[in-house]
Amino acid sequence: MKKKWIWVLFSLLLIEVALAAFIFINPFGQTKSKKDEPKQTQEISSTVVEKTSTSTSEEKENEWIKSDTEISFPILMYHSLAESEGNSLKVPPTEFKEHLKWLKENDYYTLTPEETYTVLTENKKPAEKIVWITLDDGYLNNYTDGFPIFKELKMNGTINYITSKIENSSYFNLNQMKEMSQNEFISIESHTVSHLDLNTLEDDHIRRELKDSKEWLDNNLKQNTSLLCYPAGRYDERVKQIAEETGYKMAITTEPGYAKKSDGLFALKRVRVSPGYSGEAFGQYLTSSNQ
Ligand SMILES: [Zn+2]
Repeated sequence: MKKKWIWVLFSLLLIEVALAAFIFINPFGQTKSKKDEPKQTQEISSTVVEKTSTSTSEEKENEWIKSDTEISFPILMYHSLAESEGNSLKVPPTEFKEHLKWLKENDYYTLTPEETYTVLTENKKPAEKIVWITLDDGYLNNYTDGFPIFKELKMNGTINYITSKIENSSYFNLNQMKEMSQNEFISIESHTVSHLDLNTLEDDHIRRELKDSKEWLDNNLKQNTSLLCYPAGRYDERVKQIAEETGYKMAITTEPGYAKKSDGLFALKRVRVSPGYSGEAFGQYLTSSNQ
């Protein structure tokens, strides 16, 4: 019986010694204090490279490049991904894939809405070359033809949906929307409820179009919808004001040119992509669209 007690005491003593040694060496102490230190920045000519973590699902550390001059970058505008048959808003899926491949081969980083907001508000970017791919309206072919391309090439895209189209067979349905939204490569944002020219409506009507579509997307996709895409690119000062009041953080237009903060977060320009561009021709068009 006595022997047993000695062993218990001896074991307790061993545990204490081990604990003391652990505290003394403290293998985690060093990492922790490093984290608490201010982020180290490194001067490279006129730009500053700083380490920050991004909001992407990969949670990998990205090099965000700070810029002294205002960052401007292309926001691409697509609609239906189908044989054009003379319709300038339709881009065939084969061409669309060539465009994305060209972007990838030329080291373009495709932004998410959250990253775009950071680029615009903090004037820093996650890669030297950046682009934001947007598709308007929410056509079914965005799901059947576009989604597989985004996944295959591991590139990001944003689809702006007209929420009243959810039962319309020409547009993707709620299950398809949820599937894309849950995938890391696709974001779903608002293109209003009914695609009316917002600048022609009464204030209350504008508010309903913006608020109801945002709430519908927020509830169904469990997200905080941050982007508004103006139907037919129509907006005025009232529309911009109401967009901000109803909780959007940015809005995109159809005015041509690269996007930059000085145009205003609720008046971002875009580069319209028409059918007929091979990969190379697309690249030339893209790089010459900075007005
Ligand atoms: Zn539209």
